[in-house]
Amino acid sequence: MEEERMEVFLELFREEPPVYIQELEKEARQQGVPIIRRGTGDVLRYLLRTQKPQRILEVGTAVGYSALLMAEYMPENARITTVEKVASRLAAARRNFERYDSGGRICLVEGDAAEVLPDLVGQGFQYDFIFMDAAKGQYLNFLPGVMELLVRGGTLVSDNIMHEGDILQSRYAVTRRDRTIHGRMREYLEVLTHHRELETICLPIGDGITISTKRKEAAHEET
Ligand code: SAH
Ligand code: MG
Repeated sequence: MEEERMEVFLELFREEPPVYIQELEKEARQQGVPIIRRGTGDVLRYLLRTQKPQRILEVGTAVGYSALLMAEYMPENARITTVEKVASRLAAARRNFERYDSGGRICLVEGDAAEVLPDLVGQGFQYDFIFMDAAKGQYLNFLPGVMELLVRGGTLVSDNIMHEGDILQSRYAVTRRDRTIHGRMREYLEVLTHHRELETICLPIGDGITISTKRKEAAHEET
């Protein structure tokens, strides 16, 4: 397939992440933990190295793979806060952070993002870079909190917007559960691409990602 040939070709120019990251990747894939695809990791690397955000928020830690990958490419003094709600994933993430995040640059927050995000808002936290990678059906519910947490000029990256390609199919070609997620993801994309505070690009990288920048100037009220 054309797409596979392209992948193989691009693999030639991919910067290899450190060995422990590659091992974590292999392990996660073997255990069926849903981690970011390589193309998504490339985009994160590029954005973090060029934008140099100091305060990073991740929604959806899983076992900590993407958080550790981001920590490799962010500035030395930057910090990551990452949110996860499933106990088994939290335990694995904690182990991985203890082992590989010796500088303590990653802070793992236990809980449902639906509660944690408003909590962070309430405490006045702000982030320069937010990576949304949790339950796909909930992105839209998380967006108001995310918008408050994101500084002007800050970046929001959202993963899995193609939902394994399902988003391309008609609503009726997917199962009922997937149809709901599918509908919600389309709605999320609709909102992101028409949001007056955001400039957004949708990219067919990995499982599909969006990159959104919060406008530096507040949008003018329309009359
Ligand atoms: N970012 C990770 C992968 C995350 S997979 C990586 O690339 O390495 C998505 C994770 O989000 C799952 O572990 C799931 O348990 C978690 N999740 C789903 N809904 C959540 C919610 N409402 N609050 C917190 N975590 C959630
Ligand atoms: Mg993902």
